[in-house]
Amino acid sequence: MSAHKKIYLDMDGVICDFVGQYARLTQTNLSELDNWDIANYVGISPSEFWANIDEYGEAFWSTMDKYPWTDGLIDFLMFTDHLYLCTSPSQSPSCLSGKMKWIQKNLPSELHRKFFITPHKEHLAGPARILIDDSERNVEKFRRAGGKAILFPQNWNSAKITDPRTKITNELMRML
Ligand SMILES: [Mg+2]
Repeated sequence: MSAHKKIYLDMDGVICDFVGQYARLTQTNLSELDNWDIANYVGISPSEFWANIDEYGEAFWSTMDKYPWTDGLIDFLMFTDHLYLCTSPSQSPSCLSGKMKWIQKNLPSELHRKFFITPHKEHLAGPARILIDDSERNVEKFRRAGGKAILFPQNWNSAKITDPRTKITNELMRML
């Protein structure tokens, strides 16, 4: 793989279980969630949704569980030597420190300084740039800006549900 290639890996919904954390802390059943918009699914306003999260401050973000595939996916992607994390923050300052803590606690030290925290992932797009993300909107915006993208399969998006590691491996091999 040429040196200018970069792989940008989303965090929430890809390597850390944002939905599970929200469900656990607010005692909400999200096991059938089929839409990225949790507030809409639950029937609350976006401001109520974010207030529920902000109530836990940094801990909401720093204590999320990994998914069963997280370690294997990270191991595989680190082999490429071009892996960066790429995550969009909420509007709460505690989200930033919480995400840094999550990274330091859960990921290999090689990744502790390899991240972009930005609401504008598409600004990183380019011909040799690959975004892996569970948000259809992020994937579309990244592709429109000239990058390549892989929609990470989750119940709340249209990717064919399959073993996530297999899907990422297969699609990445075609792109690299
Ligand atoms: Mg995500």
